[in-house]
Amino acid sequence: MPRSEPIKAVRGVRDILPRDRPLWRATERAAAEVAMRFGYQEIVTPIIEHVELIERVGEDTDAVSKELYRFEDRGGRKLALRPEATAGVVRAYFEGGLNQGAQPVRLFLIGPMFRYDRPQKGRYRQFYQLDVEAIGSASPALDAEVIEIAAGWLRESGISALALELNSIGDDVCRPAYLERLKDYYRPLKSRLHADSQLRLERNPLRLLDSKFAQDQPFKADAPRITDHLCEPCADAWAHVRRLLDAAGIEYVHNPYLVRGLDYYTRTVFEFYPAGASGQQDALAAGGRYDGLAEAEGWPSTPAVGFAGGFDRVVDVMAASGVEVIAAPGADVVVLADGGQESAAAEVARICRRVRSVAVDYEAKSLAAKMRSANKLGARWVVMLSAEEAPRRVARLRDMASGEQAEVAWDELPERLA
Ligand code: AMP
Repeated sequence: MPRSEPIKAVRGVRDILPRDRPLWRATERAAAEVAMRFGYQEIVTPIIEHVELIERVGEDTDAVSKELYRFEDRGGRKLALRPEATAGVVRAYFEGGLNQGAQPVRLFLIGPMFRYDRPQKGRYRQFYQLDVEAIGSASPALDAEVIEIAAGWLRESGISALALELNSIGDDVCRPAYLERLKDYYRPLKSRLHADSQLRLERNPLRLLDSKFAQDQPFKADAPRITDHLCEPCADAWAHVRRLLDAAGIEYVHNPYLVRGLDYYTRTVFEFYPAGASGQQDALAAGGRYDGLAEAEGWPSTPAVGFAGGFDRVVDVMAASGVEVIAAPGADVVVLADGGQESAAAEVARICRRVRSVAVDYEAKSLAAKMRSANKLGARWVVMLSAEEAPRRVARLRDMASGEQAEVAWDELPERLA
């Protein structure tokens, strides 16, 4: 029979191998620790949602219009693999009755997200995010709080050189008039804009400000800035957030071109970059206030703020900046059993596991070959068992660093390994 080709991973997704997991685990742990230190509780929501939930809240974003993983299940339901967590977290906040308890509700989630993006470095079709949301309060103090959490998480992941960009995009009171000003400014320039931007001019003019097309760049500098046209409550909130960041010692730059393209985003928007980088590709975390989202999902109007951070990119930056995490050995102790001693080896391993991680080498190989494997696993000790020793309930314990070896009674092993 001809051998068939081995089946490889799906395009755009990847395995995170044990050698890479220590960095991942370090930043995941930092995320959970920092969030919990601020009183945020963990939530887990499903990876699949009704496609309407995702589409209703994001039809004009690339993540939804071009990159959504959508499918029909066996029952003919139209489902999507979530491209981000916020829509599902807000759904769960209402469906789970969290809206009935003390407000705001502070939540975090760590998990995979899916986008049918063109695969490239730093962009995967399955990637992992930290999602932090404070739902049920309009206080600008929470905008500053989630920014502080993002900064704390990145810093505790070992990324100290960070750049924070900040802007306000107003709300449905002041934004409509501003958008008219923006259109008035751009209309005479229309023919000189990129074709995509010409379309955006009437449909979604805010997005002209974060256009990446070279031919659009010269016109940005003179465009009206929304922070000069905020209504009083938005202007107060904008000042308040900046005062709180100053007080927390968190540096930021005002980027007047940082915007979101959806109506339900209000006021604060922010993005964290590794210092010296910018452009969407390099953002480590992005967030802001979305006071209109709950209503867009069909729930009562409820203010909220949050951010999503990308673990894949954070781990890349950690690795590039030389963050070292001591890799845990495959096992601290390896028990080597002579042929026929499997059950004795399993019992010795069970005894040693009271104090250490233990693997048993059951392979039919020479002692020298087993020693080499134990070394590769990073074992600090090897416990050897022969047919002669096992009935006496003794074993030979070898310290792999010093090479010292001694006969030890099984029951004394935990003490010797502690
Ligand atoms: P967004 O939800 O698009 O605002 O993205 C938030 C963060 O998630 C970004 O700053 C990235 O760090 C990360 N991210 C977004 N899309 C991808 C992707 N396709 N692959 C890896 N990380 C991503």
